[in-house]
Amino acid sequence: MNGVNHSSLWLLCLTLLAGSVWAAPDAPAGTRPQSESLLTELAQLENGFQPHGEFQARVQALSRQIDATNPLYGRLVSLQCWALPAENTSDYSAAITFASQQLQQARARQDGLAEIALLNCRGWHSQLLGEMAHARRDYDASFTLAEAAGAQRLMADALSYRGNMQAYQGQLAAGLKDQLIAHDIYERLGLEAWRLHQLGEIANTYRRMGVFDRALEYFQELERAYQQQGDEENLNDIRSQLGILYSDTGRHTEALALFEEAAHYFKRNGWGMDEAWALTEVAHSQLKLGRVDEALVNLQQAETLLSRKQETDTATLGQWRLVMGLAEEAHGRLNRALYFLAVAEPIFIQEHNQRFLATIYRVQARILEKQGQANAALASLKRYVAIWEELERDLGAQRSIQMRFEFDLARKEVENENLKTHQALQAQLLDQLQERRYWQTLVTILVLLLLGAVVLYQLSRSRKMRRLAMTDELTGIHNRRQIQAEAKTMLQQAKSLEQPLSLLIIDIDHFKQINDGWGHQAGDRVLIAVASSISGSLRSLDRVGRNGGEEFLALLPDTLLAEAVEVAERVRQQVEELKVTELPAEHPVRVSIGCAQLREGESLSELIHRADEAMYSAKRAGRNRVCRAE
Ligand code: GH3
Ligand code: MG
Ligand code: MG
Repeated sequence: MNGVNHSSLWLLCLTLLAGSVWAAPDAPAGTRPQSESLLTELAQLENGFQPHGEFQARVQALSRQIDATNPLYGRLVSLQCWALPAENTSDYSAAITFASQQLQQARARQDGLAEIALLNCRGWHSQLLGEMAHARRDYDASFTLAEAAGAQRLMADALSYRGNMQAYQGQLAAGLKDQLIAHDIYERLGLEAWRLHQLGEIANTYRRMGVFDRALEYFQELERAYQQQGDEENLNDIRSQLGILYSDTGRHTEALALFEEAAHYFKRNGWGMDEAWALTEVAHSQLKLGRVDEALVNLQQAETLLSRKQETDTATLGQWRLVMGLAEEAHGRLNRALYFLAVAEPIFIQEHNQRFLATIYRVQARILEKQGQANAALASLKRYVAIWEELERDLGAQRSIQMRFEFDLARKEVENENLKTHQALQAQLLDQLQERRYWQTLVTILVLLLLGAVVLYQLSRSRKMRRLAMTDELTGIHNRRQIQAEAKTMLQQAKSLEQPLSLLIIDIDHFKQINDGWGHQAGDRVLIAVASSISGSLRSLDRVGRNGGEEFLALLPDTLLAEAVEVAERVRQQVEELKVTELPAEHPVRVSIGCAQLREGESLSELIHRADEAMYSAKRAGRNRVCRAE
């Protein structure tokens, strides 16, 4: 076998991979309540890293708690399949029989997940038995069912088994494809232990392909990982495989150290078959380094271990025979060498191990040539060349498939990256666009607000200006211009509506004396007070304005002269009662008022003139009184 073949290691992997089956998201839920401890134990066995002996004991204990009517039965049965002994061909056959029976029952009770797991278990034992076609059928069926069920984890398991088997059979590119996908699924699902295991298998495939640098890189990554975890068993496995890589690349000193270490490890654990394999590899390295005697000692030790069991592992036996042939050749015992090569040959033919077969024919040709058997040597050489050409051709094809596949993967990654970058860029653009839109909106709103403010300001300004233009600044009532304008309008209205219109001219008496006696400011206070008093004495439709210095004009629409005189009298009295703080109480403010009613065909100035005349009449008559114009 061109790889590590330690049954205990495989069993460990089986435990791992079997466990993986049940962590699938769609694992069947129990239809009856299950005890918490039972479920925990199942999960631990499915996912755990127990040594095989412990694993078997615990599965046996579980078998006593779960009967065929239990919904967990499918999970138990799968564990039972992986717990079966797998040391020799009769063990393998027994496991296949068990798996087949359980498969029938699982199908009968429509336990799809148990079916998938059992297919993998049966496939694996068929593979151990050398029935690769049967194994392949089971793995294919398992994968199809897992894919249909959408069970990622089970898919990864099926791909892992199939890929690893194909790679072992020499279908390196096809195997690698499955192995890489399985690896990615384990990684995606966060199943680190299974990912690492798969990475080891991938590294092995790369080594067989002759892609040594990548294989070395992965083995070293795994070495670090297992060292960190303190996982001695896996560490030893990886170091053994690293030894094979060194051996393949002519680094025999480094290979030797690793194989010796592995041999010690297997011896310590009492794993005879594995120790035999490691010792054979130790011997092979020693031969390469010219240490023939030491090699023979190790080969003898390996032989003792190999002969201890009834049914030995044929792959290891074949390898031992090949190395024995090399050792005998090195010792110059050419016939013995030819004998060992001859008995190794059928094993490798059965195993389809072309690389080892090529070595056998090459060494055979060399020995036969030394013995002067030119024709036989030529025949061996021809076989060697034929296999080598086939290997080279396969390797070339596989490498190109591998490269194409890896290129596809890499391209997909690049495409994904591009897509991600593109999406990020688009998102960024969108952000920018949204930001720009935000600013645009903000600016628009600000401009609108500003414009609004300007408009409002202008409006208020013009209103204020209009008010200013219409209002007397001191008293706040209409100014002369405005009250004259209103007078004009009212006159028109009175004429058109044929309503009466009266007006009052109100003049403060001796205002000059107020100014002179108590100051201009006191005069202003009096003006303000009088204006407000007049306004308060008028009706809402009446209007009043400051007509000049201390003279006011009041308009009384729809008012007859008699009524106007009454209003004027009220105004006069109100003013007389005014209390202006700036003035002493004994000096009241008084007004003289002239009243006039609009006559037919009279102009505004004529009307005002008559009222003015009436006001002067009041002044002349002694002030503080109302006079009507006749
Ligand atoms: P008569 O009773 O005859 O009307 O006498 P009079 O003093 O009220 O009248 P006259 O026309 O002699 O004086 C008016 C004074 O009013 C002259 C002016 O200085 C004063 N005057 C006019 N406008 C204002 C003003 O806005 N504030 C103040 N404090 N005085 C003003
Ligand atoms: Mg006056
Ligand atoms: Mg006056």
